[in-house]
Amino acid sequence: MLAFTSLVLLAMPWASDAVIPEAKWRRRAMGAKPIDYSHLGGHPFERIKQQNRRRLQHEDLGDDWQHEPVKIPAEAKFDTNYFRPIRILFKYDHMPSSANTQHHVTLLKETVMPQVVDFWAKTLSVFPVKRLYVDSESCTLSDPQDYVYGVAGTDLLIQVVNNEKFCSGNTLAAANSCDWDDYDRPIGGLISFCFSNIEIRNTEGHVSTSTIRKVVSAAIHEVAHILGFHENDFAYFYDSETGEPRTKRPIPQDVSHKCITGKTESFDMPSETTVRQGETDSGIQYFELVTPKVVQVAQNHFNCPSLTGVRLENQDTGDACIGTHFEERLYFTESMSAIATSSSIPSYLSPLTLALFEDSGWYQANFTNVSISPFGHGRGCDFVKEPCITNGNIPAYSKGVFCNKLSQTDYMCDSSHSIISHCDLIDYVFWPDLTPPPESYRYFDKPVRILDSSF
Ligand SMILES: [Zn+2]
Repeated sequence: MLAFTSLVLLAMPWASDAVIPEAKWRRRAMGAKPIDYSHLGGHPFERIKQQNRRRLQHEDLGDDWQHEPVKIPAEAKFDTNYFRPIRILFKYDHMPSSANTQHHVTLLKETVMPQVVDFWAKTLSVFPVKRLYVDSESCTLSDPQDYVYGVAGTDLLIQVVNNEKFCSGNTLAAANSCDWDDYDRPIGGLISFCFSNIEIRNTEGHVSTSTIRKVVSAAIHEVAHILGFHENDFAYFYDSETGEPRTKRPIPQDVSHKCITGKTESFDMPSETTVRQGETDSGIQYFELVTPKVVQVAQNHFNCPSLTGVRLENQDTGDACIGTHFEERLYFTESMSAIATSSSIPSYLSPLTLALFEDSGWYQANFTNVSISPFGHGRGCDFVKEPCITNGNIPAYSKGVFCNKLSQTDYMCDSSHSIISHCDLIDYVFWPDLTPPPESYRYFDKPVRILDSSF
């Protein structure tokens, strides 16, 4: 039986807004230096907004931006001609320098992070920054000199650290963004690796290929959170057609919302055109992403044209309020679901994740650099909307994906179609130390638990 590897994102105490205004027009601290976009004709959002204003004035509606944005003609839409592959710069200013951590530092610097830089450069494009000023009051581990003089040739600056405080269980890494440009795109971040959970095999620093693969995959996942795949980002997404925020500004602060975990907390709630609340037939609450490309890609993935949104994980994964990952039940092999599959099952950073990045308005994605996640692919609406097991039986749409046998010897192809496995149910009678799931999550008369026991 293989253990889960948690990739739960943790809030970093040193990464917070320096100034919390009463109502937020933008994420960046008030008075912070603007990011230099004064080339290539200026930032595309500004160009679109100027065109919109001219149209509004022409139609004698005034130029108050809070009017319903007027769609501009197709030929004048968001211009991505000047987008370029994203340039991520990792900095190691706060890495430990002791003898017993040197192999981990070398592994990250020389092997892992170059692959991460390369992956994202091939996958996402962005309107390039001319000079980047990461606010060292917001990103307190960043170099203050970088804020004073700026950094050229970089669109996102990330400090790499090792903080074992955030390394419970099998967690490999955690990350957070901590500064944003004038259009709310993350420009500064922090990623912390758990050296205690990354095995160095010998005194020469040998690391197995599977460990490298796991750490690269975890780092790509965490950088996705920094780039904007996080519940704190959804309220700051832009509509790439209008150059306007998807959620009306200013966003009121200190407004309490009921989170999916039942807790009530202050949260920047996205508009209903970005995230919507839903409920399953058995009364389970969830939030779902409803932005256009995300919905389109999910409809195509499942072959379910009536799908209205992509569910976010509604079980407690860290400090989430509306959800920061795709729902595990529906997106099991997605890299951006909450729990990493075992190291023998590949996880896929898929077109669905790239659709989210395009719907943020900040990026253009290269869909040819990712692979389709096999879980649920082409299985139709019932797979999404109906229970995975009914009356203890496997319905046709669940065959080959879910199972109902307490057997360690009946081998089958696993749900990712990549390895041989057996059904991974357990009977709680034999696991008295474990807590069975709540009634609303049970599919059998007596409580059994689904575990990843693939091999
Ligand atoms: Zn995560």
